[in-house]
Amino acid sequence: MIDTTTFSGTKALFHTFGCKLNFAETSTVARLLGEEGVRRVQRGETPDIIVVNTCSVTELADKKCRQAIRGFARRYPDAAIVVTGCYAQLKSAEVAALPGVKIVAGTNQKLMLVDYIRSWMADRTARLDVTPSAELREFVPSCSRGDRTRYFLKVQDGCDYWCSYCTIPRARGRSRSGSISSLVEQAREVAREGGKEIVITGVNIGDFGKGTSETFLDLIRALDDVEGIERYRISSIEPNLLTEEIIRFVATSKRFMPHFHVPLQSGSDKVLALMRRHYDTSHFREKMEMIRRYIPDAFIGVDLIVGARGETPEEFETSRSFVESLPISRLHVFTYSERPGTRALDIDYIVDPAEKHRRTRIMLAISEQKLADFTRRFLGTVRPVLLEHPNKGKTMSGFTDNYLRVNLSAPAELDNHIVPVALDIMIDDSEEITGTLQTDTK
Ligand code: SF4
Repeated sequence: MIDTTTFSGTKALFHTFGCKLNFAETSTVARLLGEEGVRRVQRGETPDIIVVNTCSVTELADKKCRQAIRGFARRYPDAAIVVTGCYAQLKSAEVAALPGVKIVAGTNQKLMLVDYIRSWMADRTARLDVTPSAELREFVPSCSRGDRTRYFLKVQDGCDYWCSYCTIPRARGRSRSGSISSLVEQAREVAREGGKEIVITGVNIGDFGKGTSETFLDLIRALDDVEGIERYRISSIEPNLLTEEIIRFVATSKRFMPHFHVPLQSGSDKVLALMRRHYDTSHFREKMEMIRRYIPDAFIGVDLIVGARGETPEEFETSRSFVESLPISRLHVFTYSERPGTRALDIDYIVDPAEKHRRTRIMLAISEQKLADFTRRFLGTVRPVLLEHPNKGKTMSGFTDNYLRVNLSAPAELDNHIVPVALDIMIDDSEEITGTLQTDTK
């Protein structure tokens, strides 16, 4: 029997789409509901509430969210479906019309979900509350504490860049960030909980502190002093905001890992200009070579969009040979998808779907080769690995400092411990390595 005023006995299912930021926010919502007596649904149980945190980075992302919501409504007809995230922010009326949806909350209403759900349970009041994107000014903190070995700490939100293919500025609003003191306090909280690794995340995190006297470099310097946290990773940073000071700091820091994720999006200057990106290919190469100079073993992941408007066969070829020549570890390849309301729709040249997929396969093959070459460099060496509790029956696994995933046999009590591991062999057709524990805890 559910007590409609106190939530006790209420069971909730949480489903998150998209980026690390969304995972941090869902985890915060789950924790707040947990403090009110709502517990996560266990396998085989029927949820009373289903919270879906959506993504809208592509048309396909919207479609997947709709499919999931319809699926939940069919499977759990009595559950109240609560939808938030970028798809809810951008298309709230469309979302509200989906079956089973009782509450639709925008980007800045995520932390009000506790109250909305309480009033829903009290009097079945459906709710749609979305602050117009242009008015999104408040920074809402989030940290995915207790959900995983690796914590996601939200340090910044929104974006002022308006790249021609992107809807995120409309979904997440203007660039804004938390204060260094509040973020350091959240990192201390993670340390108190026994957390070892924090991934700092946001939409355009290099823009941290915009409009204030604080900078991204100040932030990572302050976080580096938090006792108890052994590792930080910078989730993704724009190349024009990745300064030499930041790279040098990571190179000398004890806690910031040799791991960078930098969006390139195209290896053609013509296409970069059409995308309204804030750098060109020579600027980008300079940053990649700078990382290699300061941190030769760093893992460098690079985002690339394939088949964007304006990417003629010649520009694709330029992009392919540029990417192939970069000293990076892997590509994150995205096939361009048309987004309503974006400036990219004013660009005449369109790549047909079959050609887009052919180009995507070419870039994925380049990425596979780069990752294999990068991984091979470290076979036979010993690197520190943060061990993560294994999935059912699987061996222990974890990431090295420079972001290589390793599988190894190790006692379960070493979960969430950083241990030296010999990197033995690369597992065929996979991005993983098998390793051997190098400690006297054998
Ligand atoms: S930097 Fe560009 S691609 Fe990234 S979120 Fe901002 S507008 Fe979108």
